Amino acid sequence: MTEQKANINAGWNFDNSYSLLPETLFTRMSPPPVSSPKIIVLNDRLAASLGLNAEELRSTEGAAMLAGNLIPEGAAPLAQAYAGHQFGHLNRLGDGRALLLGEQITPQGERVDIQYKGSGRTPYSRSGDGRAALGPMLREYIMSEAMEALGIPTTRSLAVVTTGESIFRETQLTGAILTRVAASHIRVGTFQFAANWGTKEELRLLADYTLQRHYPEALSHTNRYLVLLQEVIKRQAALIAKWQLVGFIHGVMNTDNMVLSGETIDYGPCAFLDEYDPATVFSSIDVNGRYAYGNQPQIGGWNLTRFAEALLPLLHEDGEEAVQLAEETLEEFVVLFKSHWLAGMRAKLGIFNEEAEDESLANDLLQLMKEHQADYTNSFRALTLNNLDGIALFGTDQYLVWQERWHARLDRQQQSLDDSKQLMRSSNPAIIPRNHRVEEALQAAVVNDDYAVMHKLLDALANPFAYTVEQEIYAVVPDKTPYQTYCGT
Ligand code: AMP
Ligand code: MG
Repeated sequence: MTEQKANINAGWNFDNSYSLLPETLFTRMSPPPVSSPKIIVLNDRLAASLGLNAEELRSTEGAAMLAGNLIPEGAAPLAQAYAGHQFGHLNRLGDGRALLLGEQITPQGERVDIQYKGSGRTPYSRSGDGRAALGPMLREYIMSEAMEALGIPTTRSLAVVTTGESIFRETQLTGAILTRVAASHIRVGTFQFAANWGTKEELRLLADYTLQRHYPEALSHTNRYLVLLQEVIKRQAALIAKWQLVGFIHGVMNTDNMVLSGETIDYGPCAFLDEYDPATVFSSIDVNGRYAYGNQPQIGGWNLTRFAEALLPLLHEDGEEAVQLAEETLEEFVVLFKSHWLAGMRAKLGIFNEEAEDESLANDLLQLMKEHQADYTNSFRALTLNNLDGIALFGTDQYLVWQERWHARLDRQQQSLDDSKQLMRSSNPAIIPRNHRVEEALQAAVVNDDYAVMHKLLDALANPFAYTVEQEIYAVVPDKTPYQTYCGT
């Protein structure tokens, strides 16, 4: 099928600035057509904020567009080249099952990437089929929209369409394409690609492009590449602190899955903590626990060190000076992470001001949660509601000792207890995408073609701080069956 012009006005307003970068960084290509596109879910609110017409996108032509059979006007599709340390090993990668359509300029003048994930083979596919299955694409939709509602920077999900084609993994699965919306898809791995397989000039052009796109105020700085490193470190420290505070486990923090915009990206094997335990791992392929919940900050630092290495040729003419600048800057990550985390923990405990003891207050509570196998989210929820029934931890003497310290701490600040409760309500989600609830929704959708369960879940997750009675079923913890996630490739 050749590229066809669409007769609908979906509201696309594409620009293609990435395609002006050196051609070693991408490969232009159109998405291979699929047999019969059908929209499964479309994000009306996101569509509206992007200036898109959801009604038009729901038409037959709209579905064809979201499957790549019709190229939206102004789009210049391409597969991006990148590399990445996967579980510690550097590999040459690239969009093997995704295409960047271009950048939508929103009515507010923002620039966001529109990417089709699962759209078919590209020159970077290696042995993969370039396709994605419905379950994992819906999972990304649910998780990314839940993260957005939790106030965590993330890529968004505009739509999932089925292709009408089967894909083959261990079994035959329904093929699907997710439309992903991102501040950009520039990864640590994109820089690693340029540094290892490109020229210094290509690396510089990529760095200038990234600055222009995400940190324009740094362009006039005398060492703008050092500022780039500093700014990326700042955003990652803030992001990973938010993950820790909400109990989010990314699951596959390879350097190709860390973006310089500071958004969460790549919802493969991610999952939320139930019981608090830093060693928690859900991903079936993470056998050594490299990406365990408690390791995420350290891995964040490791990935940023890989980013700094890629930037070295730009940081200083002199190699040793460059290394020294990078090392000094990287030290800031731990400090920034800790300050974000501590600020977040104070808010979770209703604390407004700062005292030296706060860190141990928070850590001691976490330690008690671990010892008594307490559910992370529900423990903070119970403290917020001051309803401690049914959680074993809160019946222990150790907890009562801790509670006394906490109450004394709250008494030492000017704000009232009501103020503290307000702060806690806006800092402790009443509900998160519980693994068993997500699975239940996916099961109904994929096996029974029943999307009502997912829509109910999505509605609840859109307001995680609402503390409504109707949401309570989503706060129920699962029974103790071990849970495993898969990359969904
Ligand atoms: P991910 O696990 O999604 O971070 O992907 C890691 C690398 O594997 C990227 O280069 C992907 O494009 C590639 N990849 C993942 N799944 C597939 C697939 N089904 N076909 C081709 N390439 C894939
Ligand atoms: Mg990835």
